[in-house]
Amino acid sequence: MNSVVPGLYELPLGQVNVHLLETRDGLILIDTGMPGNGPAIEAALQSIDRSPADIRHIVVTHCHWDHSGSLAEVKQLTGASVIMHATDAAMIRQGETLRPLSPGPGLVNKMVYRMIIRNARSEMEPVEIERDVTDGESLPGGLRAIHAPGHCAGQIVLYWPEQGGVLLAADSCASFFGLAMSPAYEDLEQGRRDLARIARETFEVAVFGHGKPITSGASERFRKKWA
Ligand SMILES: [Zn+2]
Ligand SMILES: [Zn+2]
Repeated sequence: MNSVVPGLYELPLGQVNVHLLETRDGLILIDTGMPGNGPAIEAALQSIDRSPADIRHIVVTHCHWDHSGSLAEVKQLTGASVIMHATDAAMIRQGETLRPLSPGPGLVNKMVYRMIIRNARSEMEPVEIERDVTDGESLPGGLRAIHAPGHCAGQIVLYWPEQGGVLLAADSCASFFGLAMSPAYEDLEQGRRDLARIARETFEVAVFGHGKPITSGASERFRKKWA
């Protein structure tokens, strides 16, 4: 598990990143990775002398299987309550993880898109979500939810006002080879509007569901691209 800035860890799990925040309200896990990632998350916690029971809340940024895949397992392991946007909470309660997607702009995205669509799972074990949230809501740990529905109708990105501001960007965009749009969107034009809106926030650091963190001047880079 990599320390990004004090209080924020990133756990890369192959295709997707999971994040862990140390907050005044205890440990908060952001996303749960793909099915079968429970043991990797448990081992990562052990590596920083923490145990699954230390996790107080799990925020799932959206319903896609690479973010919700181990939710049932991690919830069982930790006993934590789960927070999601209402629109995607409804999906997970039904055991569904996928609405139709279209490719993001650019050749690399179109290639990655083909790989995602080939691997994507649309069904999962249903899981109960304890708290449904909407845009602008305050969450535990000082987090604020920003609804970013272009990639996925019930996606939230998270703003954390520590360390000069941290954006947990989920799949609103990605940073494989520099900051770029994601490989897939339910509504690409809405995805662009989401990014223009996110770019109005001020944050030093950004982490992504897919790709490497930006550890300084992050919102400036968002503004240059999408404002
Ligand atoms: Zn996604
Ligand atoms: Zn993803």
